[in-house]
Amino acid sequence: MYINGHWVTERSHFPVTNPANGEVIGEVPDCTPEDIDAAITAASNAQKSWKQTTAYERSGLLYRAWEIMLSRKQELAELMTREQGKPLKASLNEVQYGADFLLWFAEESKRINGQTIPSARGNQRFITQKVPVGVVGAITPWNYPISMITRKLAPALAAGCTLVLKPAEHTPLCAKAMAEVFEQAGFPAGVINVITSRDPALVGEAFCTDPRIRKLTFTGSTAVGKQLNARAAANMKRVSMELGGHAPAIVFPDADPVHAAKGLSLVKFLNTGQACISPNRIFVHKDQAEAFLAELTARAARLKAGSGFEAGNSIGPLINEAALQKVDSQVQDALAKGATLHTGGQRLTDGELAEGCFYAPTVLAGVTPEMKIYREETFGPVAPVVIYSDDDDVLAMANDTEYGLAAYIYSNDLSTAFKAFEALEFGIIGINDINPTSAAAPFGGMKNSGLGREGAQEGIEEYLETKLGGFAL
Ligand code: ADP
Repeated sequence: MYINGHWVTERSHFPVTNPANGEVIGEVPDCTPEDIDAAITAASNAQKSWKQTTAYERSGLLYRAWEIMLSRKQELAELMTREQGKPLKASLNEVQYGADFLLWFAEESKRINGQTIPSARGNQRFITQKVPVGVVGAITPWNYPISMITRKLAPALAAGCTLVLKPAEHTPLCAKAMAEVFEQAGFPAGVINVITSRDPALVGEAFCTDPRIRKLTFTGSTAVGKQLNARAAANMKRVSMELGGHAPAIVFPDADPVHAAKGLSLVKFLNTGQACISPNRIFVHKDQAEAFLAELTARAARLKAGSGFEAGNSIGPLINEAALQKVDSQVQDALAKGATLHTGGQRLTDGELAEGCFYAPTVLAGVTPEMKIYREETFGPVAPVVIYSDDDDVLAMANDTEYGLAAYIYSNDLSTAFKAFEALEFGIIGINDINPTSAAAPFGGMKNSGLGREGAQEGIEEYLETKLGGFAL
């Protein structure tokens, strides 16, 4: 753990394992309540001077961290593959995406502008300033163990906030490596603190109740997000919540079904489906269904599962046994209720795959609203296809979910695509585009997918308060 500029190790530890083979790859300290308090105290003390730094000083440090991150790209990516399981190429992409936030917010820190506002009174002047919210508690998930850290920390630091980070218990080593990056960049002691815990609720409770924490930023499941949001609200804390998703993808009748199947297979099986923006309900017009399913099935069947260090493998393990059981139970429930299996549908246990939590890339067709997989977020390599016949109905079906994070559309007709873009109740919509994410673009969801946006110009607003000055002359 990294508290007030010191590395803290003398604690009981918990192990970190490689999900591809179960091997223990390290251990990290399990924080005590005193550690949580020490980290919040350090952040709170550091806040006093950090908020006085100029935007240019903060920008320079973020820029330095960006340079260090890129110089350590290969090493960070290898650590990520060992700890989280994704293929090395995907880890390299994630380190780059993670670094992008440092550069983006190094720039945005210099554009925290206030306003002058005309008054109705001749002798009055209004000005506003944007000021940092104060100490931030950040909780991050394991599926994107580096980019979810920088997506929160970079705007917080740029805004002039100090923080305490608690990474997911499955991927604390990536967080430790990022703490090293920030230390090496020269951030003052106490500005960034990292605590690791096998009992996340203990830290969550402290973040929601300690009066020195002014803002909670969380990425994780909707269930935990709702609990934390309720606790934080009771103490009037600001929150940003990036929660679950259940993205629809609609292949309209005018789209090229082969092109759509290619794109959707790429985004569906990315990170073995362990992404909140993964397409989880693929709606295909009945006229396109045969061609689409043939291409999607062929592509899914060709994907190779295994160690992320072996070139050619694109399917990594699921994070743990519980995750695998949940995916399998959704698939078995769908099959029992009449879905058809085009490929996959089982755990992979050949050779060394038996050591990890590998699930075969799966394509299901004939998925209906009665099936669990239609409603519950799927966090695995399963592509559920729903065949539809009416374009208006399909938009209503796509919106018929408690989630509102991402959606995808394939159409070659401008007005069809535009109408769908406007009708869909989701925060991020890919139109013939499977990667609508960037440090420059706002990421976030509607409904039960969360509150607030990360990245883009909006990302820094989440860490700023508006202060009004009314001057009588
Ligand atoms: P996932 O299903 O992605 O593992 P979680 O919401 O369980 O989603 O985990 C996301 C993050 O939330 C992790 O850092 C985890 O440790 C943390 N977390 C889980 N439960 C709690 C809790 N009760 N309070 C605070 N943080 C929690």
